Amino acid sequence: MRGLRTHHAGGAGRGRGPVKPFAYQVPGDAAAAVRTVADDTTAVFLAGGTNLVDHLKLGIVAPELVVDITHLTSDEITDNAGGLRIGAAVRNSDLAADRRVRERYPTLAQALLAGASGQLRNMATTGGNPLQRTRCVYFQDVSTPCNKRIPGSGCSAIGGSTRGMAVLGASEHCIATHPSDMAVALAALDAQVQVLGPGGARTVPFVELHRLVGDDPSRDTVLEHGELITAIDLPPLPAGARSAYRKVRDRASYAFALVSVAAVIAGDDVRIALGGVAHKPWRATRAEEVLRGAPLTDDAVRHAMDVELTAAQPQPGTDGGNGFKIPLVTRTAVATVRDLTGGRA
Ligand SMILES: Cc1cc2nc3c(=O)[nH]c(=O)nc-3n(C[C@H](O)[C@H](O)[C@H](O)COP(=O)(O)OP(=O)(O)OC[C@H]3O[C@@H](n4cnc5c(N)ncnc54)[C@H](O)[C@@H]3O)c2cc1C
Ligand code: SF4
Repeated sequence: MRGLRTHHAGGAGRGRGPVKPFAYQVPGDAAAAVRTVADDTTAVFLAGGTNLVDHLKLGIVAPELVVDITHLTSDEITDNAGGLRIGAAVRNSDLAADRRVRERYPTLAQALLAGASGQLRNMATTGGNPLQRTRCVYFQDVSTPCNKRIPGSGCSAIGGSTRGMAVLGASEHCIATHPSDMAVALAALDAQVQVLGPGGARTVPFVELHRLVGDDPSRDTVLEHGELITAIDLPPLPAGARSAYRKVRDRASYAFALVSVAAVIAGDDVRIALGGVAHKPWRATRAEEVLRGAPLTDDAVRHAMDVELTAAQPQPGTDGGNGFKIPLVTRTAVATVRDLTGGRA
């Protein structure tokens, strides 16, 4: 077990100015890391750093303490109660390449490979990926008002550029979307998140990890400050289950989803999760209800998505708005289910 090491870091970054100096610690174990972060309201965990380091450079966050957890959680994928347990330090590239994941949970492998680039996936971790923050351009530009960055300052996206914004579950305080591909697959797979906090360990169903904004856009998830993801569990799927992931984006690679769909067919159940449409990976439970036990024709999936999307609220915007997402996500869901049925209902 390694002891606590503290360094001081800072200096010029790529962003708008120098990175505010911060202390850097490597605690001896996960429990110590949790205590350290819980005791300092400005402290943050550092995993692969592919999102956090950009935010330090851009001035989106300015912690006084960065706690490196890279070696404090498991980097192994183990068999677990008929499913798999993925340690939080497992890199996205290792997870996508795992034979058990590719064979039993192809939607997850496909979602991972649809994200970022090979180099980024080599760094990005299982714990960090679902906790990456929105790519809303105004959130990333510290010169503009943003309720997520500075509560009460306003939302620059409303009435601005809304092409990448939410059509489901948004509020007048924030219309941002969650950017992770992996998270959409984990929502469809009914994954469970293992969390260690100052008060002990708990399990959070993945579909409950992320929040809708409501009147507090500053919080992305239900995790309390200092809570650490230690692993993510994939429950077993019934024999014969099939799954797939489809992502629609502006470029063939290195681009975030405009919309995406993870679909799982398990017996009479069809599970559908949507990406790029809400502040969280969106489980299409209304569509799932319509499709339960029904023949999975294109028309049936289209109808189910119409039911799901009755509550959708497209955003007007200076760039033409995001109403295009509603028919696009429907077509993507139809195509993803068809990938799994081969067109045979
Ligand atoms: C150019 C570019 C393109 C990208 N394209 C895509 C894409 O197409 N699809 C996609 O899904 N992603 C994409 N990404 C995002 C990338 O996948 C994430 O940055 C990455 O997965 C984050 O993981 P990390 O381990 O580097 O997290 P970090 O950057 O280390 O941390 C991210 C956040 O999670 C917190 N955190 C990390 N681990 C834990 C833990 N175990 N417990 C509690 N908190 C934790 C950190 O404090 C921080 O707030 C892209 C990134 C870049 C830079
Ligand atoms: S949509 Fe959310 S993240 Fe983007 S500017 Fe508005 S409050 Fe900030």
